[in-house]
Amino acid sequence: MSKPKKEKDHILYVDDEEDNLTVFKFTFMEFYKIHLATSAEEGMEILKNHEIKLIISDQRMPNITGVEFLANTAKLYPEIIRIILTGFSDVEAIINAINQGRVYRYVTKPWNKDEFKVTIDNALESYRLNKENRTLVKDLTQANDKLERYNANLEQIVEERTAEVRRKNEELERHRHHLEQMVNERTIDLKRAKEKAEEANRLKSAFLANMSHEIRTPMNAIAGFAYLLATQEVSAESKRNYVNHINRNIESLLQLIDDILDISKIEANQIEIKKQKTKVSRLLQELAASFNELKTQKDKARLEFVVDIPPQMEDNLLVTDSIRLRQVLTNLLSNSLKYTKEGSITFGFRPVGAMLEFFVKDTGIGIARDQLPHIFTRFRKAERSNKELFRGVGLGLAISKSLVEMLGGTISADSTEGVGSTFWFTHPLDLAEDPSHDELLEKKALDISSFDWSKRHVLVAEDEKTNFDFLMELLKNTRARLTWVQNGEQAVATAKADSSIDLVLMDIKMPILDGYQATKHIKALKPQLPIIAQTAYAMADEKDLILEAGCDSYLSKPINPEELFTTLSYYFG
Ligand code: ADP
Repeated sequence: MSKPKKEKDHILYVDDEEDNLTVFKFTFMEFYKIHLATSAEEGMEILKNHEIKLIISDQRMPNITGVEFLANTAKLYPEIIRIILTGFSDVEAIINAINQGRVYRYVTKPWNKDEFKVTIDNALESYRLNKENRTLVKDLTQANDKLERYNANLEQIVEERTAEVRRKNEELERHRHHLEQMVNERTIDLKRAKEKAEEANRLKSAFLANMSHEIRTPMNAIAGFAYLLATQEVSAESKRNYVNHINRNIESLLQLIDDILDISKIEANQIEIKKQKTKVSRLLQELAASFNELKTQKDKARLEFVVDIPPQMEDNLLVTDSIRLRQVLTNLLSNSLKYTKEGSITFGFRPVGAMLEFFVKDTGIGIARDQLPHIFTRFRKAERSNKELFRGVGLGLAISKSLVEMLGGTISADSTEGVGSTFWFTHPLDLAEDPSHDELLEKKALDISSFDWSKRHVLVAEDEKTNFDFLMELLKNTRARLTWVQNGEQAVATAKADSSIDLVLMDIKMPILDGYQATKHIKALKPQLPIIAQTAYAMADEKDLILEAGCDSYLSKPINPEELFTTLSYYFG
């Protein structure tokens, strides 16, 4: 392939002499593309329209010198190379121009073709180099600008990145801190849960051991005295003594069972508060009387129970559930009696704002400060450093706390070890004036010897012989006639066959046919025949079932003699 033909460089030649122009053109046209002008104006016109790389101008022209013309063109086209053609007379002006940079070279007339060509080629080479230089500088400047921009950009990016990294770092730090905190909290929670579980476990074991002790102790006494009664000839006095022991232990067992039932009723939300007008001062006096009785039995005769009531409130009636209020006070008084050897136990109430504040204050052994917060928790007993052991399973205060809250108050205690304890609880100050509704008005005392039920016939349905024997003993003096059957089926048959039966005492838990079923059958045959259930259960729903089955009334076991007589006399008149 042939090289592409190299384009000729464009040269402008200005001279007012036509001959000079012609000679120049013909001498060099084979090397360059030559534009000719006879005047400066003509030269300017050509410059406008062509890409001229070199201007060669004669110095001597009619209106303007060559140097002046070239200086003018240099302003408009600084990149074009300028050569002046001159005779020697003008040399000075030309050297000046060269020094000022307005003219590249000068060529003297008459010129030699070869020399002139070398000068022209050098000028063109210079143009090329200049151009290359300019391009290079331009490229470099652009590259530099770009670089600078890029640099600025980079700096900004770096700054942004740094800020972002810092932000991320801070966030991470916060996260880490949060995480650490969470881990710490969890650890504490877990530790607490573990301690609680261990405590619960410890309490459970302590409770079981305690409960076992609390059941075995009275059982032991009961079994022991019963054995003595059964196997020995004893005087009437020791007999009374033994029986007293047995009864007292039965009472403490019953108390324990009542407490357990109460706590489970409280937990099952089954306790109903029934408020009635109650003369609280009388309730407190009664409690003082029975505790003064009790203290002698406990060999604490010197202990004093003192009732402290504001005189102006002695006749006030309080709207309260007197059974529950009595239960709380009984618990607190029993504790005070249990934990106090000598001194006094003062109890009473006083109005404090919208509440009535009850208190029980003793001079007993007290409770260590660190034990105080725990004593209202069920199954918790204050730990004692000395070896003295106190009976109790730790239910009384838990029950009292729940009851006080149900009545609308709060309970608290303060105590100093070795000095004594004070328990307080509040109760809404809800007073009534009318004394006619005082449900504590004394009941008429029962006179058992006045009952003559010789014409009465009672059917006793009871699978346990000892229980029947007990009833027989109790009713012996009334001369009532008793017929004993051992299950529900026999009860139904006997009630059906024997028209002389006036009343049925119906045990609930019996073989073959239970008390509920037997009652339903008998009531279907003889709806008028009174049936009184006897039950060892004491839960609330048991009572409902009994009444639903058709029983007219019920007695809870162990049978309380007074209750039995009251109930029977109601039916027998
Ligand atoms: P407990 O059946 O053990 O008496 P409580 O719930 O009635 O159960 O009482 C919890 C604990 O509080 C008791 O074991 C006893 O240590 C302490 N306590 C209660 N009342 C008194 C008191 N008046 N004086 C000293 N300690 C008492």
